[in-house]
Amino acid sequence: MALVNEHFLKLTENYLFADIAKRVNAFKVSHPKQRVISLGIGDVTQPLCPAVIEAMHKAVDEMGVKASFRGYGPERGYDFLREAILKNDFLPRGIHLSSNEIFINDGAKSDTGNIQEIVRWDNSIGVTDPIYPVYIDSNAMIGRAGIHEGGRWSNVTYFACTAENNFIPQLPDHRVDMIYLCYPNNPTGTVLPKEELRKWVNFALHNDAIIFYDAAYEAYIQDESIPHSIYEIKGARKCAIEFHSYSKTAGFTGVRCGYTVIPEDLTAMTLDGKHRVHLNHIWDRRQSTKFNGTSYISQRAAEAIYTPEGRRQTQENIDYYMGNARLMTEALTRLGFKVYGGVNAPYLWVKTPNGQDSWKFFEQLLYGAAVVCTPGSGFGPSGEGYFRLTAFGERENCREAMHRIADWMAGRTE
Ligand SMILES: *Cc1c(COP(=O)(O)O)cnc(C)c1O
Repeated sequence: MALVNEHFLKLTENYLFADIAKRVNAFKVSHPKQRVISLGIGDVTQPLCPAVIEAMHKAVDEMGVKASFRGYGPERGYDFLREAILKNDFLPRGIHLSSNEIFINDGAKSDTGNIQEIVRWDNSIGVTDPIYPVYIDSNAMIGRAGIHEGGRWSNVTYFACTAENNFIPQLPDHRVDMIYLCYPNNPTGTVLPKEELRKWVNFALHNDAIIFYDAAYEAYIQDESIPHSIYEIKGARKCAIEFHSYSKTAGFTGVRCGYTVIPEDLTAMTLDGKHRVHLNHIWDRRQSTKFNGTSYISQRAAEAIYTPEGRRQTQENIDYYMGNARLMTEALTRLGFKVYGGVNAPYLWVKTPNGQDSWKFFEQLLYGAAVVCTPGSGFGPSGEGYFRLTAFGERENCREAMHRIADWMAGRTE
């Protein structure tokens, strides 16, 4: 008899965004004339830039000619892209990596979810809270997170990030083997200063732990002092894996391409305590069994982001989204909301008025202003009492949403 992997049954029934979609649909059915503005889901709205489109067309044409047709590519990705990554994302920051340490993927979600396979199931895990749900759920699926009770996983250490601690997570007072950090952060839009990140690297080195560092929003950093990569910190090569994505950087959510960095120096101990194993080799073995590479066309598209035109054009899109973030921050602040994030990341993390619970505020905003936010509690226990707005919308929609919220607030207080 084939038995189901019952760890899947421990996951919460509805994925957050499915839950939101259901409630939004109910609203639309009862209010067919109202145009709903969604500032909820973190998908981009601006099209791919011309440099990327040109590279993709060219790659498609190559695929149609016998002499330049490409079948399966190298499992770690094409050299042209890995070299462009080393030269543009790392060397200018004084980080020396070898192309062997770069694994091209089909976006960061797959790798952030799959990476937990390369360490034993009984390692302990810790995550900043609130957090992108993939980290915990992927660990829950093999039983590492324990059971879900009262909004918390029994075997997960939560590093609370709230307004009270300025969204700076505190080091745990006990051992944690696997640490997930995401900076700039989704959902809070906050960043970690270099000295704070250094504390985590030192903790990991001291405890022989691994940091899984999600840098998906690195391109949105405006403040020069904020690290773009964990490898800017001394010692991180020995304890950290880093994930990058072109999804938010260059609008690749539908194209699919990103990369994972696993330094050659990163090792983990065998259970008998006798051998240290290189995780770069383990991941390579895992990938060559379960993954057949990202399409040639996507990798050529990603390469084009690093050309002078590509850089300028992607920067224009980032500036557009950050313009939305500024507009929304100013409008909400004027209305008396406490707004966090939105400066080095395309997310605003906002306190609900009068300490209202997140889902209740979500419903009121939907029914009062026909604007969709994401309830903070969907990202973890410390998200309760907050809501998230994304800056990925159209400028006009952001503006209109702010007007509606202002009107709604004026009506509420009368
Ligand atoms: C969007 C996002 C990703 C990247 O997803 P892709 O699979 O690359 O599209 C990774 N991490 C976080 C925190 C994200 O918000």
